[in-house]
Amino acid sequence: MELKEAVAKLKEMNRVMHAYNHAMGVMYYDIETAAPKNATGGFSDTMAALSEITYKLSVNEENFALLDFLTGHADELDEITRREVEEAQKGLKLLRSIPMDEYIEYQRVLSEASAVWHEAKVKSDYAMFEPHLKKLVEFARRFAAYAAPEKDPYDYWLNEFEEGFTQDVLDGYFEKIKAGLVPLIHKIGERPQLDNSFLHKTYPVWQQRKLSDFLMEVMGINRDDCAIGETEHPFTTGFNKHDLRITTHYYEQDLASSMYSVIHEGGHATYEMGNSDELWDSPLAGGASCGMHESQSRFYENLIGRSRAFIELVFPKIKETFPEQLEGVDAEAFYLAVNRAEPSLVRTEADELTYSLHVLVRYEIEKKLMHGELDTKDLPAEWNRLYKEYLGVDVPNDKEGCLQDSHWSGGSFGYFPSYSLGSAYGAQILAHMKKELDFDGLIARGEMGVITDWLRVHIHKYGMIKKPAELIRICCGEDFDPQYYIDYLTAKFSELYGL
Ligand code: ZN
Repeated sequence: MELKEAVAKLKEMNRVMHAYNHAMGVMYYDIETAAPKNATGGFSDTMAALSEITYKLSVNEENFALLDFLTGHADELDEITRREVEEAQKGLKLLRSIPMDEYIEYQRVLSEASAVWHEAKVKSDYAMFEPHLKKLVEFARRFAAYAAPEKDPYDYWLNEFEEGFTQDVLDGYFEKIKAGLVPLIHKIGERPQLDNSFLHKTYPVWQQRKLSDFLMEVMGINRDDCAIGETEHPFTTGFNKHDLRITTHYYEQDLASSMYSVIHEGGHATYEMGNSDELWDSPLAGGASCGMHESQSRFYENLIGRSRAFIELVFPKIKETFPEQLEGVDAEAFYLAVNRAEPSLVRTEADELTYSLHVLVRYEIEKKLMHGELDTKDLPAEWNRLYKEYLGVDVPNDKEGCLQDSHWSGGSFGYFPSYSLGSAYGAQILAHMKKELDFDGLIARGEMGVITDWLRVHIHKYGMIKKPAELIRICCGEDFDPQYYIDYLTAKFSELYGL
C-alpha cells in the first residue's frame, strides 16, 4: 500500500464515520428532547442497526491493517493525521483484545444494568442493582487485563479518560485537595451561613427561558450555531462547530439551577465552536479530554459565572425579569447567594468549594473496587462512611447515596476524577490568563468575547490535536499544578465567609 493511498482511505473512513455519528447523535438528541414517549422502541432498533454498521466498519482486519500500516509511517504523517491514527488505535486497542463472545455478553450485561439502575434508584434499592454492578466491576478488571496486562487495572482506566494520569499522580492530587479544603470547609461551617432563600421563590419557567436566551447572548454564543432544549439532566452534544445542542432543566423553585446549567453547558458548546476549521469532519474535533472539556464548562460556570463582576453585569437584567421575587435584593446579595457553600449529598448539586470531595469519595471507592479490596455488597457502607468523614453529612438512603450517578451502571470506572481535574485545570488557566488580560474588567464591561478568544487560541482551536498535559503547557508555560485550584478556592471563600 502506498502512504498517500492509505491516508486517503483513512480520511474517507473518517468522513463516513462522522456521518453515522452525526445521524445517531441527532437521533439521540431528538429522543431526549422532542420525540414522543413511545418512540423509544423504534429508536432502540434503529440505533442497534446503526451501531452494528459502525462497529463492523471500524472493527475489521482491513481497518486494523490500515491503521497498523499508518502507525508504522507515523513520522511521515502531518500532525493531524498522525493524531487521528493514534486516537483510532487507542479506541480499538480494547476492542481488539476482547474475545468476541465476551464483548457480546458485556453489551447484554450493560443494557440490563442500566435498566435495573434506573429502577433501583427510584426505589432506593441498592440490593437490586448490586449483582449487576458486581458483573460490571469484573468485566472492567478483566478488560483492563486484556488491553494492558502490564498495568494496574485502575491505572489503565484512569489513563483512558485522562491521558497521563495514574493513581500515583491522583493520590498526590487528592491528598492536596483534602489537606487544603477539608479544614477550610470546617471553618466555614462555623460561620453564619449566606442567605439564598430568595433563589427558591417561584420563578415561572417561561421567564426562565428568556433568562437563558439572555445568558447565552452575554456569553457571546451565536444562536445560529447553538440550539437549546430541555431535558431531565442537562447535557451538551455537538456534530460540528456550527451545530451544537445544549439542554437545561427548569425548576420553578430554584432560579440558580437552570441559570448555571445553561452557563455550564454553554461553556462546553463554546469549546467545540472554537475548534479550528480543519477539524470539520475529523474525529479530533471536540475537546482534548473529559477533564479539559469540564475545565471549560466550569470556567464559564464558576470562574466567570460566579464572579462578582459577572453578577454585577447580569443582575440588572435578572432583576428586571423577576422584579417581585427579587424585591430588596441587590447584586451583592445575589453574588453571595449563588456562592453559598454547604456540604451536601448530591454531587451534581454541589457547590464550587465542596465539589471535589464528592469526586474523592468516588475515586477511593473505584480504586478499591478495581483492586478487589471492596466487595460490591459493602459499597453503601463505605460510601456513607466516606461522606461522613469528608463532608460531615449522614447519607439517609442509597438514592441520594451510592445510586445517584449513572456512570457505574454504564460500565465507566475512572471517569469521575476528570470532573475534579477540570476545575483544577481551570484555576491554573485563569491564573495565567490574568497575567495577560484584565479578566474582571472585561467581564464587568460585558466583553466576554476577549476571554473566549484567548481560550480559543490557547485551547479550543486544537480540539484533540494536543493532549491535556500539552494544552496546560501551551496555556500556562508549565506543568499541571493543583495548588492554583486550592489557592483560588481559599481566597474566594475566605472572603465570602469573612475568615
Ligand atoms: Zn460538564
